[in-house]
Amino acid sequence: MIKIALLGSTGSIGVQTLEVAARHSERFEIVSLAAGKNVRAFFNQLEKFSPDVATLSAFPEEGREKISTDEDGAFYLTASGKKCRLYFGEDAFLKAIVKEADVVVVALVGFIGVKAVLKAAEAGKKIALANKESLVVGGELVMNAVEKAGVELAPVDSEHSAIWQALGMNRRAPYKKIILTASGGAFRDKKAEELKDVTAAEALKHPNWNMGGRITVDCATMVNKGFEVIEAMRLYGAKAEQIEVVIHPQSIIHSMVEFEDNAVLAQLSYPTMELPIQLALCGERLSAACKPLDFVQLKSLTFLPVDRQKYPCFFLTVDSVRMGDNYPCALNAADEVAVAAFLRGDIRFTDIARVLKGVLDKTSRAKITSLGDLEREDARARALAEKIITEIHGTFIA
Ligand code: NDP
Repeated sequence: MIKIALLGSTGSIGVQTLEVAARHSERFEIVSLAAGKNVRAFFNQLEKFSPDVATLSAFPEEGREKISTDEDGAFYLTASGKKCRLYFGEDAFLKAIVKEADVVVVALVGFIGVKAVLKAAEAGKKIALANKESLVVGGELVMNAVEKAGVELAPVDSEHSAIWQALGMNRRAPYKKIILTASGGAFRDKKAEELKDVTAAEALKHPNWNMGGRITVDCATMVNKGFEVIEAMRLYGAKAEQIEVVIHPQSIIHSMVEFEDNAVLAQLSYPTMELPIQLALCGERLSAACKPLDFVQLKSLTFLPVDRQKYPCFFLTVDSVRMGDNYPCALNAADEVAVAAFLRGDIRFTDIARVLKGVLDKTSRAKITSLGDLEREDARARALAEKIITEIHGTFIA
């Protein structure tokens, strides 16, 4: 039985992880769950999976009547007849990294993933990593912590899982080049000049995948693919020049690896996250809910280059990792703030690139040697991004 601590259980990856755990209940047991604000879904999960520990980012308004207090003042609730210890607070998810867990699934969104990965490594736990921001932002700091702790780091992201599979599930296997495939996001059939008028609702309609809000917008700008370039560099020790990105609208090939003899291995399936999730959890090919590929039905698989005019954010993201040090952290902070502003309707879709460029231009090089360094850089870049957004918002309203 593999015991799972799941951080980000109410999100898109979290829910799919629970589906995998439920389908293979003879293999997996949920020992802890952590979520943010989606209290109703969370309490339903507690009833269904009855973990030992559960955490929320704040004490909830809804469902308070379910929560009791021990003689020692600790919170708990009873789920399916079992006592579940509860913790609340912005960093309470760290309490969900319990000693019973064999694997910690980091399915949180954003910068906070760094803290989760560092803590899981320190606790000596295998990490199934969905949160790409931790590798983008944390870079060497995170990879050094993982190497030093000697823990396994298994990719959940479908592209990195495809690469991992092509490498025989060995992150250190030799290869010549990585070819990352990209769907092109919600606006892949639009021209660059049409993008200034697109809405948040349109950006949230991904053609092939159903994901959380931030990553769906990041797919439309292709910041997400830039992040995946960085993720591949960290996970597989690649240089930026060893990674090629191609738009593959069908999302059937999830990525490819080219070897010394120019042979290329690819992993194919209909778009599903359950397959990479279950591989990351146990490294075995369990039965999946995904149907087999029908090649005759598919007819054709096509590939296109990434257009610089249409996807400036992709190139800015890759630039940030070429610049190194604190630049990817600054870019991620700028993107988190810019995407939230776009979703609120405060800036246009095309302004996201202006915010990223503005923040990169005003960033000075600084070495990152601790979580504190990262937090300071993140806070600085966020404040700068907010300032740029206020300036843009002024002109936008006028
Ligand atoms: P979602 O936005 O759907 O989910 C994020 C999860 O994080 C939610 O459960 C949310 O809780 C939780 N959360 C946020 N803040 C806190 C906090 N302070 N404490 C505890 N929990 C918190 O994101 P996705 O599932 O789409 O993505 C998760 C990560 O996986 C991202 O890094 C993304 O880039 C990556 N990824 C996602 C893919 C996908 O298919 N979705 C594919 C590949 C990678 P709540 O909802 O309760 O507020």
